[in-house]
Amino acid sequence: MLVTLRQIVQEVSTATHLDDALDIIVRRVKDALPIDACAVYLTDVESNHYVLMAADGFNPASIGGVRIDRQEGLLGLVGERHELITVPDAAAHPRYHPSSATGEERYHSFLGVPLIHYHQVLGVLVAWKRAPGQFDKDELTFFVTIAAQLAKAIHDAAAVDEVSRMLSGEVQGDAFIQGIQMAAGVAIGTAALLDPLASLESIPDRPTQDIDAEETSFRSAVAAVHEELRASSERLAADLPGEVRALFDVYAMLLGSDGLVSDALARIRAGNWAPGAWRETIADHAKVFEQMEDPYLRVGAEDIRAIGQRVLVQLQAEAKESRQYPQQCILVGDTVSITEIAAVPVKQLAGIVCMRGSALSHTAVMARALGIPAVVSLAPLPIGRLDGCEMVIDGDQGRLYIEPSHAVRAAFRRLIGEAQARSERLMALRDLPAVTPDGFRLPLYANIGLVSDTVAARDSGAEGVGLYRTEYHFLLREAFPLEDEQYQIYREVLEAFTPRPVTLRTLDAGGDKILPYFPVVEDNPFLGCRGIRFSLDHPEIFLIQLRAMLRANAGLNNLQVLFPMISRVGELDEALGLLARAYRELLEEGRAANKLRVGVMIEVPSAVFLATALAERVDFLSVGTNDLTQYLLAVDRNNAQVTTPYDSLHPAVLNAIHQVIKGAHLRGKPVSVCGELAGDPAGALLLLGMGVDALSMSPASLARVKLVIRSFTLQRARSLLDEALGMEDGFAIHRLLNGAIEEN
Ligand code: PEP
Ligand code: MG
Repeated sequence: MLVTLRQIVQEVSTATHLDDALDIIVRRVKDALPIDACAVYLTDVESNHYVLMAADGFNPASIGGVRIDRQEGLLGLVGERHELITVPDAAAHPRYHPSSATGEERYHSFLGVPLIHYHQVLGVLVAWKRAPGQFDKDELTFFVTIAAQLAKAIHDAAAVDEVSRMLSGEVQGDAFIQGIQMAAGVAIGTAALLDPLASLESIPDRPTQDIDAEETSFRSAVAAVHEELRASSERLAADLPGEVRALFDVYAMLLGSDGLVSDALARIRAGNWAPGAWRETIADHAKVFEQMEDPYLRVGAEDIRAIGQRVLVQLQAEAKESRQYPQQCILVGDTVSITEIAAVPVKQLAGIVCMRGSALSHTAVMARALGIPAVVSLAPLPIGRLDGCEMVIDGDQGRLYIEPSHAVRAAFRRLIGEAQARSERLMALRDLPAVTPDGFRLPLYANIGLVSDTVAARDSGAEGVGLYRTEYHFLLREAFPLEDEQYQIYREVLEAFTPRPVTLRTLDAGGDKILPYFPVVEDNPFLGCRGIRFSLDHPEIFLIQLRAMLRANAGLNNLQVLFPMISRVGELDEALGLLARAYRELLEEGRAANKLRVGVMIEVPSAVFLATALAERVDFLSVGTNDLTQYLLAVDRNNAQVTTPYDSLHPAVLNAIHQVIKGAHLRGKPVSVCGELAGDPAGALLLLGMGVDALSMSPASLARVKLVIRSFTLQRARSLLDEALGMEDGFAIHRLLNGAIEEN
């Protein structure tokens, strides 16, 4: 049964259209079990109906035409209960309302199981037997299991279908793809695939003007791979056992077989460019292997893809050209790294769309810092077909419009205009202090990551830099930056803000920030060699950074250093020891250097409980709520599927921050908050109530937070905090704060 299940799910997930996917489901399920009919109904949310989409065993004419009210009949019962329901004799059931169009009156024994994805009932999978009676245990297990797996495949196929219809202009009105917010704001622009030639699956289709040239370049790429295979096999002859070396022959044979090359050539002659034609050909051939029963033969799909990638690399080499980005560029990719964002000229970058990530990923943090919207699609988009198409991204609602209508564009242009006007109004607050109506002053600082961000930070009215993520510079390089180079960068930022404070965080590599030239391979990178752990493991790299900072501070004295990911007092002592050593050595060398104020990031739960001990050793603490939330609630900050449980207003997170502030204040040390919570008006209000000493956020959030601080008295913030801390769940806290802010 497991094999049949796996095969059906596999077949469904390779279908390129929703209709095909649904047809496969009903046909294969009916064949696999002793049932007389199988049908899939999908939910039409707008009209609140279930629509019969595919069936085997029903009158074919009824498909697509039968609509059932979601409150009605046995289907309605399955949807309401969210569970599998069997009825041995449907006609005797009070909710039985057969549709005459389908011919289901012929059947008696009913089984319905809901298709649920992301808490939503996408539809119902139904099976009928002609004779009255029970479904047996194995059959029930089969349906429960397959429904759970098919729901995702159906959801994904529906999204791909929707995108296809959007691309072909079939969709009217304001259809959109629902994803989740990564960074707020709205943008209209042109999609640019990250690196369209990176992997075979992401190659777009592209019409070609010069079919002969494409054909020639394709033939020469194939010939080059043939030669490469022959040469590799020869070179490794002495080192590889014969059966492994035979793989080269298998590859050469696959490539030499008529099918692959001639299919690709036919596609080129039909007008697609060589990489697009090749992608389609490889996908088709791999699919044939994937559907084979024999697991050994199924592995052939991998070989086909591997050979596909090799030919692509050759095609890439021939088509090397310098990348041009559209004027209003919306970067689209499976994941979009901060290095890839940095490759686009800042003025041209309008937005980001990716398949993986979340509002707290570093991609999101960077998007927010740049003030551009970003959305994560919850369904796999046919990325290869999106290059160059027009898009609207609505980061506020987490929505994506592909080839939007004039009306949609006009509506969003209006929204962009309104947002600009609002931000101009907020700019009026720029030079006013963040002070509550009852006279409490709360300094607001900016989070930045690149020297170029200093302009936005100063324009926002920030009173200094509360978090400079030095790792961005490390990530954009091809090797570790040396002391003088780091010195120049830090000095520039310090000078831009002097005499206002600038907090430089030491290298926070690891997790999702892997240095391209120093990859640390770990099973759990977020629980691995990250932040201070990496720096302490590599004192030779850490000392260079500390020396550069101490030198940059000479004569300016506005630098504060911040250590990330401290989880033990011992780590802090070691880091402080290295800092003292770097200072001593600089003095011995006769170089100008100034001591620094030192802070510790509180972003690991253990550090919360050590706040007082840590505060005793340093000048200040800074709470990193992004990681603290991730580690405290055990939710991956990069995983879009767990955005609901990821909540920095969760009472446990609020209590932890409160404890840190109280613990540090016991030793008379100030606490700032530099995670995204500080830039959220609701979060800022609660932090104000907790007695936080400073907030640091992306420059784009600063004015809104200042408005909130200037609108609520400290006393009111404290009473809201008291109320929030008495609550048991984050939703209630969100409601409380949003209500208070709206009222204000
Ligand atoms: C945090 O974890 O809250 C933080 C500010 O650091 P980063 O987002 O860079 O991990
Ligand atoms: Mg962090």
